[in-house]
Amino acid sequence: MKKFVKILAVVMAVVLSATLLYACGGKDSGDSTTAPAQSDASQTEAPAATNGKLIMATNATFPPYEYYEGDKIVGIDAEIGALIAEKLGMEFEIKDMDFNGILGAVQNGIADIGMAGMTVKPDRLEQVNFSTSYAKGVQVVIVKEGSDIASIDDLAGKKIGVQEATTGDAYATEDFGEENVKRYTNGAAAVAALQNGAVDAVIIDNEPAKAFVAENEGLTILETAYADEDYAIAVAKENTELLEKINAALAELTADGSIKAIVDKYIPA
Ligand code: GLN
Repeated sequence: MKKFVKILAVVMAVVLSATLLYACGGKDSGDSTTAPAQSDASQTEAPAATNGKLIMATNATFPPYEYYEGDKIVGIDAEIGALIAEKLGMEFEIKDMDFNGILGAVQNGIADIGMAGMTVKPDRLEQVNFSTSYAKGVQVVIVKEGSDIASIDDLAGKKIGVQEATTGDAYATEDFGEENVKRYTNGAAAVAALQNGAVDAVIIDNEPAKAFVAENEGLTILETAYADEDYAIAVAKENTELLEKINAALAELTADGSIKAIVDKYIPA
């Protein structure tokens, strides 16, 4: 009964706001006619932005978390995202974009969640909320085999390739100076730059690093790890209800072993 009252209240609010929009000559009068018609119970419960569909923004050049297999985006994040949507009774869609665009897409409702092996960090927490962490990441350094770079300290004065706007970018810039950092839109491009000598090293997350080194001859990962990180799902600040539901879904998927099964499938021990 309580739920019904809540739903009724939301439906009334939608009708009211649609009416107001109409009365005020809102710029898209189409909204005012479609909004009330869509307000059945299941959709009213869904996040406002996308009504019954969970849209995940990602950058699908980050194996094993998100990458293309044929024309399909697969990977740990893609599968966990799909399971969360299923738990929430929502359809699921993935939008592929530059890593640098993900938080903006979440903030302005182009996507409901950002899931991209994304590290929780203070400046991002000013822009969005993060779910509980579902995975750990480590920043590592890729160099060419036989490189004179053998430790983090050896990076001083070298050209470092990074993916733009990632934590690797932030650490490299902070520790070795803006002038020594070359930014690429994705990890594959940074690794290609390492191969052709445009940079001397690439700082990137460990699992993609392993995948890139496996795919490219003559590259190696330094023993010394650079920084430990927590990956989590970005949600718009105002979308607290969705955040709670995602955290509940993550807790269930952790408890029943689903997340571990997905991770083990993509990262064999
Ligand atoms: N974990 C890193 C970050 O959040 C890199 C993520 C990525 O490139 N997809 O900045």
